[in-house]
Amino acid sequence: MGVPAARIVFDEADRAAVAEAVEEILATGALTLGPWTERFEEAFAAEHGAAHAVAVSSGTAALEVLLRTVGVRGRDVVVPAVTFYATGAAVLHAGGNPVMADVDPTTLALSPATLEAALTPDTAAVVLVHIGGLITPEADALRALCDARGIALVEDAAHAHGSSYDGRAAGGFGLGGAFSFYPTKVVTSGEGGMILTGSSEVRDEARIYRDQGKGSFTTNHHVRQGYAWRLSELHAAVGTIHLRRLKEFVEARREVARRYDAALAGVPGLDALPEPPGCRSNVYKYIALLPPGTDRARFKREVHDGFGVRLAGEVYDLPLHRQPVFGPYQGPPLPVAEDVCARQICLPVHSDMTEDETARVIEAVTAVHHRLAR
Ligand SMILES: *Cc1c(COP(=O)(O)O)cnc(C)c1O
Repeated sequence: MGVPAARIVFDEADRAAVAEAVEEILATGALTLGPWTERFEEAFAAEHGAAHAVAVSSGTAALEVLLRTVGVRGRDVVVPAVTFYATGAAVLHAGGNPVMADVDPTTLALSPATLEAALTPDTAAVVLVHIGGLITPEADALRALCDARGIALVEDAAHAHGSSYDGRAAGGFGLGGAFSFYPTKVVTSGEGGMILTGSSEVRDEARIYRDQGKGSFTTNHHVRQGYAWRLSELHAAVGTIHLRRLKEFVEARREVARRYDAALAGVPGLDALPEPPGCRSNVYKYIALLPPGTDRARFKREVHDGFGVRLAGEVYDLPLHRQPVFGPYQGPPLPVAEDVCARQICLPVHSDMTEDETARVIEAVTAVHHRLAR
């Protein structure tokens, strides 16, 4: 009775709904930029209280389109060092220079102090990443800092479908938010992405960019350097059907987090990252820090070999400025990012996780922690 690192949940009813949608899409021949894309956009915007949504082919595309809309070519873009490769890669694709910043150890997000340390006279944009689904209580302070200097704040909300702070959903703290529907994310379309924005100008630009920079769907006048960033109707149908489960999935994931919190509170030295006051996380990841000096590879191996439990992928095990491909953008040392990347583990969280499974994970990590802790 093992516990996998991740599990993607499409129940029988959802699989039947997808099959029916695919049948309809193939029968009509409306395979891209059709009614399912519109349905997906409307439902995703409504779920997050956003004015506008634009569906695209991936989370990375969503980020790049937002950055192109801002106009970062040849200019600096601040990104946190604790993030996925794609956050920095989108900056490069949009022609910008990524500037890595350190993070707050309690939220793994930028703070006003770490952001200020990374700003340059030529900063065009800042990317705020909601790691693991946590929204920093300082999001508005970061926005104010950006506004005061005429810098765009963009959210990488790839982890944060349905997360909120003070009742405001992810995607609503800056000029726009980029979401991903990669299979491991809290809801998926197979592959896909979404931009949320309160700005009708950003929405219009994003629609142009995603369809080869065409001024309109029916003409062949290319007014922007766009790309094939469309989402197919087949993916839009999968995403629309999966999105109906978002609230239920987030509830289930939060229940898993409650069990982990209660158990780890009695385990000194294994420190779960607490949910900040006012934040309601979707628990995309459940992050805990090992004591300094613990051999993480050995910890994970013993949890697996002894208990059949696979820990989830870290977010992240290596900070962005240490990734070989970002060597030219390395900059000064970022000690908090290095520390939290070196020491974190992520306990598995599934949208249909059973109590037996969470009990097994708790048993495994506490036993191995006691064995390895000195
Ligand atoms: C998944 C992810 C992305 C990229 O999404 P894709 O859909 O795979 O392009 C970007 N940023 C973060 C933080 C992610 O986790």
